[in-house]
Amino acid sequence: MYLGFGSIQQVITDKELWEPLARLADYYSVPRTVNEARVFLRQVCGLPETRATEAMRILSQGNYLIPYDTLGYDERYSRPALLYELSGTRAREVQDRLSRSHVLFLGCGGIGNLMAITLVTSGIGHLTLVDDDRIELSNLTRQYMFTESDVGELKSTVLARELARRNSTVEVTHLEKAIASLDDLESLPAVDLVVVSADTPGLTDLVNTHCVRAGQTWMNVCYVNDIAVWGPLVVPGVSGCWDCRRIIAREPADDPQLSAVISRINHRYQAPSNGPVNMLASSLASLDALRHLGRFGTARSLNRRVGVWTHELLLDWQEAELNPACNTCGAYSGQTSRSEYASRGESVE
Ligand SMILES: [Zn+2]
Repeated sequence: MYLGFGSIQQVITDKELWEPLARLADYYSVPRTVNEARVFLRQVCGLPETRATEAMRILSQGNYLIPYDTLGYDERYSRPALLYELSGTRAREVQDRLSRSHVLFLGCGGIGNLMAITLVTSGIGHLTLVDDDRIELSNLTRQYMFTESDVGELKSTVLARELARRNSTVEVTHLEKAIASLDDLESLPAVDLVVVSADTPGLTDLVNTHCVRAGQTWMNVCYVNDIAVWGPLVVPGVSGCWDCRRIIAREPADDPQLSAVISRINHRYQAPSNGPVNMLASSLASLDALRHLGRFGTARSLNRRVGVWTHELLLDWQEAELNPACNTCGAYSGQTSRSEYASRGESVE
């Protein structure tokens, strides 16, 4: 007998429990107390006390029992609430944490559009959008919050306007600003999560240095040709940072001439972009951002940079675990207690 599907799925091999569990599920078609369920298993299904306890333990361990008002307590978020409950967390608490979270996007292009709309409609309390770019016709293949009539307008302004239309309870701030230095980053508000959703050369290195110093969580989301990429989710002092391991190719430091040529080529490179790969990276990164901020489940990009190779449909990742000898975060590691993070129920391994 299969009880539930997906990550909560349990195979019940004990045939004696099949009918009682099925009848109990039917009995639960309206809200019942745990005590009522126990009495039902004993008196109606005829299970002895120990077996009734065992059946209730299966339901409890599998996160199948949820508070009776989960679906109705707040219509707007009632459907994701079921996922939070099935993940073993109380939906009200998750929603409350999301509503108190502040996320900052560096870049309002394809990734910024799609992640921002996902977080805003999920009930994140405050978003700050940073970008000084204007909308171009070639953006419309993936930056779905923009229309033809928005061409020429500032991306951050238009995105903020569109987000406000999707959820009036969310506070959206927009800054028309280019980020080129650590000083620029230091002038930004302190937030719960920084998302680097721009492909400005060198930006990830700057953000990593800034966030490690400031003890601020951040993640990079992008695509590399056909690969949808997200992570690592860097939680300073807890998980590996961008510099802990070699996760991106660098120009050869010991050959200045070759390095200069490669740098020129890379700066000239126009990355191919398309809607579906963009959506895939944004979707999976948003799920991790929600998991981290709402604390349901573990962000899959903690300590690794994950990629879906869309041509091959392969899931791959690069290890990005904490390296105590890291030049960037080594001195800061341990500032946030790993045990404190683990007490949130999240794996730091
Ligand atoms: Zn590091």
